[in-house]
Amino acid sequence: MPQMPKIIDQTCLRAFLNSFDNVLTDCDGVLWSGDNIIGRANDAVNKLRSLGKKIFYVTNNSTKSRDEYVKKCEKLGFIASKEEIVSSSFVMAQYLKQQGFNKKVYVVGTSGMTAELDNVGIAHTDIGPEPLTVSPFKLPETMELDPEVGAVAVGFDADFSFPKLMRAASHLEDQECLFIATNTDERFPITDSKLVFPGTGSFVRCVETVAERPPLIMGKPSEKMFTVISEKYQLKPSRTLMIGDRCNTDILFGKNCGLHTLVVLTGVTKKEDLEMWSKSSDEEKHRLLADYCLPQLGDLVDLLKT
Ligand code: PLP
Ligand code: CA
Repeated sequence: MPQMPKIIDQTCLRAFLNSFDNVLTDCDGVLWSGDNIIGRANDAVNKLRSLGKKIFYVTNNSTKSRDEYVKKCEKLGFIASKEEIVSSSFVMAQYLKQQGFNKKVYVVGTSGMTAELDNVGIAHTDIGPEPLTVSPFKLPETMELDPEVGAVAVGFDADFSFPKLMRAASHLEDQECLFIATNTDERFPITDSKLVFPGTGSFVRCVETVAERPPLIMGKPSEKMFTVISEKYQLKPSRTLMIGDRCNTDILFGKNCGLHTLVVLTGVTKKEDLEMWSKSSDEEKHRLLADYCLPQLGDLVDLLKT
């Protein structure tokens, strides 16, 4: 039977700490939940930094620019610089730049995406609600497709709509047009609520279904997120730890990139999920099992005191 993640305690703390020089940490569900810090996650991350570990904040959330993430980190007590923020929007912009992309991006998303495209000098369409009203029973005569568009990028977009879907899929009829998704997170838990918060994956699936082809995915579990930083900072996978709360993105990302992995139980994954996966006969489920586990990241603070 595959091993359950090892709970970090004093018996394995030194071996754990000595196994990595770099820390990639997921944000929502590990460090914060919405706008609220989770436990003493800030003290834990700052402590790891003071021990000489290099820190990167790795988030699939496409809605904010890296500058906005630096401000959020500051507000919640995490030491952070812009170079340490790796968001799915940033990776998207870097990817297009590396490809020498010189057309326009049709953005289904928010200012987090357009800010990163602006940063690398790539043209894009405006964000916000699509002004055209379109019903499937009354096709618009006026929906013109911008001939400059050479890529469709889909991120989180609360203004997602039928006309946007139609425009995105119409651009994608041209097989030369790139199809990029910032991430594919399905949904997010809302504390103390029965409501479900749809994630970017739901919009991506919509576009993918109509376009009849799959997107290139930028966020975790795609290795692209690691490539962007490891090429710049020469990070050795064997000396890097990935911390996450969602195993099908964060932990799988860690495994895909050959990193050490630590799951915390303050977000999507629950202890019961780990138990279920460890007993499953499906080998894909075993890949969701991290090397280490902590109820919450802030627990490291006490462990490191003794
Ligand atoms: N995308 C959106 C729109 C979100 O709101 C969130 C979490 O709040 C995420 C993605 C997941 O972010 P992370 O990778 O930091 O968990
Ligand atoms: Ca998360």
